[in-house]
Amino acid sequence: MKVVLENLTKIFPSRDKKAGKEVVAVNDFTFEIPDGQLVGLLGPSGCGKSTTLYMISGLQKPTSGKIYFGDDDVTELSTENRGIGLVFQNYALYPHMTVKQNILFPLQNLKGKDKLSKEEMLERAYEAARLVQIDELMDRKPSELSGGQQQRVAIARALVKMPRVLLLDEPLSNLDARLRLQTREEIRRIQKETGITTVFVTHDQEEAMSISDVIVVMKLGVVQQIGKPQEVYDNPTNLFVAKFLGTPPINVLEGKVEGGKVYIGSEAVLEVSGVEDQEVFIGVRPEGLEPNENGAFTCKLNNLEVMGRDASVVSTHESALTPVIRAIISSDIKIDPAAETVKFNVKPHKFFLFNKETEERIYFEVK
Ligand code: ATP
Repeated sequence: MKVVLENLTKIFPSRDKKAGKEVVAVNDFTFEIPDGQLVGLLGPSGCGKSTTLYMISGLQKPTSGKIYFGDDDVTELSTENRGIGLVFQNYALYPHMTVKQNILFPLQNLKGKDKLSKEEMLERAYEAARLVQIDELMDRKPSELSGGQQQRVAIARALVKMPRVLLLDEPLSNLDARLRLQTREEIRRIQKETGITTVFVTHDQEEAMSISDVIVVMKLGVVQQIGKPQEVYDNPTNLFVAKFLGTPPINVLEGKVEGGKVYIGSEAVLEVSGVEDQEVFIGVRPEGLEPNENGAFTCKLNNLEVMGRDASVVSTHESALTPVIRAIISSDIKIDPAAETVKFNVKPHKFFLFNKETEERIYFEVK
């Protein structure tokens, strides 16, 4: 089932009449989520990702714009009638019910032509439980389960109604690091197996990048970029997106373009064409800096962190806007940790220029 968002906008009136400012939580969001894909809505706190999800679910009504499931306009439809499965951050299982009763619960309220016999309900509940691998735990109460198991019950409960669309709001944030990793892979597996179009909200870029077919990066209610995770990482449209994706984060510096050369301080680090002379912000991915004794870009060496296969060269530069300049290199490359400076060459496809006022990307060709 494809999901179409058309000029979707949500404006919350001001709570405080004196302050008088309304909040544009989501601003003119248009996007077609292809059938069967997992889309990660990503952005910092307050960027409007949950509001977008709530509008898709029907829990919140858009101020303007339309939502379609397939060809059906569902904008005015209530949550119950949209055929969605919802999973929230706090699993909200009924504590006095067993796992089985929790999963059966949504089926017991079905009416009319959707009404199921007891056998059919049980069959569906066990099918959903098997999918999330909790069918051995059906007689336990939620308090007798681990956090990850509870979250799987919540997912089974969302799946049991065979939703047209699955909506997940930060479903992993209550889990510890190891469980997060495991559960996110589980969510991906379940999503692939069921082929249900899924929207997943998270502020964790690594999480979104690792499981999504497509990510949507949002900032202050406005969509910044939509694309496959790797494409967005490789080709950020502005400085915000470049900074938001990547661990360790991109190195950001001030610089200038003059006579076809990009300067950081007094050093010309790359020759480019197609860019007018101007001051710029420069972003270099940590894997875009190659140590070379004749390198064009000189930094003050702080320290060297060897982490098995890779090493992290931590340095500083007076033009840097990030506290350090970090380079990730193979640990086979030898660097003298006692040296005062380290020189790098930059890899052009890991090196981005941004307009100093708008922070939009400036595209260039390498000479
Ligand atoms: P988080 O990761 O913190 O949950 P988010 O990206 O999901 O953030 P939203 O919850 O969608 O962000 O909120 C977007 C903006 O709308 C925020 O500025 C928030 O304060 C505001 N907002 C959300 N709900 C309401 C509401 N019911 N009334 C007024 N303002 C709201």
